[in-house]
Amino acid sequence: MNFQSLPTDAKSILALKWTDYEPYYKDLEARELNKGSIDIWLNDWSTLAATVDEHYWRLYIATTVNTADKEREGQFNQHIEEIQPMAKTAEQKLKDKLLASGLSPKSFETGLRMMRAEAEIFTEDNLPLLAEEQKLVTEYNKLIGSLTVMWDGEERTLTQMFPLLFETDRSVRQRAWEVSQSRLIKERRNINDLWERFMPVRLKIAENADMPDYRAYTWKQKFRFDYSPEDCKAFHAAIEEVVVPAASRVYERRKQRLGVEVLRPWDLFVDPLGATPIKPYESMDEFKSKSRAIFEQVDPKFGEYFQIMMDEGLLDLDSRKNKAPGGYSLGLHVAHRPFIFINNTNTAWDVQTMLHEGGHAFHEFERAHVHFYQRGEIYLPAEFGEVASMGMELLASPYKTKEYGGFYTESEGARAMIELLESNITFWPYMALVDAFQHWIYENPKESSDASKCEEKWAELWDRFMPGIDYSGLEDAKRTYWHRQSHIFNGPFYYVEYGLALLGAVQVWANARKDQKKAVADYRKALALGATVPLPELFATAGAKFAFDAKTLKQAVDLTEEVIGEMEAKL
Ligand SMILES: [Zn+2]
Repeated sequence: MNFQSLPTDAKSILALKWTDYEPYYKDLEARELNKGSIDIWLNDWSTLAATVDEHYWRLYIATTVNTADKEREGQFNQHIEEIQPMAKTAEQKLKDKLLASGLSPKSFETGLRMMRAEAEIFTEDNLPLLAEEQKLVTEYNKLIGSLTVMWDGEERTLTQMFPLLFETDRSVRQRAWEVSQSRLIKERRNINDLWERFMPVRLKIAENADMPDYRAYTWKQKFRFDYSPEDCKAFHAAIEEVVVPAASRVYERRKQRLGVEVLRPWDLFVDPLGATPIKPYESMDEFKSKSRAIFEQVDPKFGEYFQIMMDEGLLDLDSRKNKAPGGYSLGLHVAHRPFIFINNTNTAWDVQTMLHEGGHAFHEFERAHVHFYQRGEIYLPAEFGEVASMGMELLASPYKTKEYGGFYTESEGARAMIELLESNITFWPYMALVDAFQHWIYENPKESSDASKCEEKWAELWDRFMPGIDYSGLEDAKRTYWHRQSHIFNGPFYYVEYGLALLGAVQVWANARKDQKKAVADYRKALALGATVPLPELFATAGAKFAFDAKTLKQAVDLTEEVIGEMEAKL
């Protein structure tokens, strides 16, 4: 069959049915695999899988861009129910065929390594359990998403309550925090019950897959070939040694600036200098053109990419009715284009989000030439994917002022930079807490199947990693804080990636402060590799070390604190 005849335009892709895809899968399944035929076979398969993938994401985008579009929603559900399961089974057959052939096509080592891991943990017995787990996830998301409180006579979701933590009036912040918190505490028993239903399902999944424990299962499932649980623990210890004291300094500064005796959980988001929030732009056009100007300064190629996204309507940035909440950047793998979705609110947060998602989007452009199985979202390691985005946030940081065509006056730029750098420092200890908690959970499945024991452990780890915020009298809030850390429920062990990526991103930034051109060239080289090489090599190509140690971390923290000092002088 001629795989070039698969459609490439959005309209035709959206019109495809499973019966259109099936003959292509059958064709690949029937072909003989040998040294001479493997390259064409892989290319054809890549084209087909990219089409199915793009079909899914185009529908997903359509449902988030307009949540009221019932027709698209119907097509999306149909895709999930009809095309996806068939495609998944067909894909697995082809993966098995490739593995059974014993062939190892050139520059496909990492692809094969991932497929081997998938095959190793796959068992039909787990399909109903994975579906059961998915139902629990949906139940959790629904429960958390449905929580509302009354605020000044108005019903508000917890997300809608969050901006109140930026209020300069401390009593308002405190009341907003307490109202939200008591709503969560009300659900304590329900969330704990739900947790206790997750555990047996996960333990059984690991057992069925013949894995010694659930963590070992997750390690394969997340393709974590290049680091071990021990590395993660070394990382936690390094964070405790090097970052926790730096985070305490951040909290101490905040406390002094706010002029409060102790820092309470409702004091963490408000501007500590009491300045009015920055409004970075007047119109969406201005937002786009200034974003483009910043990217252009980082590298003219990034300016070009962003222009393409502007010209082709690949940016959905404004907040409006019937638009889904949140933000993302995702790849359309046939069109070789990214799509960025953000809900702008005209705050400094928009600028930061744009730079972050921009990094993801340019990663998509740069790796477009790589085989689908070494570039698609599932195969791209998040530990490096987030270096692309967090790295961009830092690489772009010198160009955010008006002087470079950006958004800010010098002092606004300094404020935004301090905020970014301080949040990087305070993120690491929190990340270590979440990760250490999950290691404990799956190392002690008996104990952690009892949610009250989880509460106890969480509080203990909180004290280890999060000193500086006073929770006295708020012990229940502290003990149950993990209830709203969704990853623990819906993406077990998915969190350390951000901590590892941040350490990579800071190293890329450190390089740029010495030699901007070379640092960006190395960063781009690494982006262009997709997932064709292991993590340490991706990091090395970007000019960074894939690291867990206190020394590398200390260099990152020292630089961050040094630049915070420079910025303070500009306030
Ligand atoms: Zn990201």
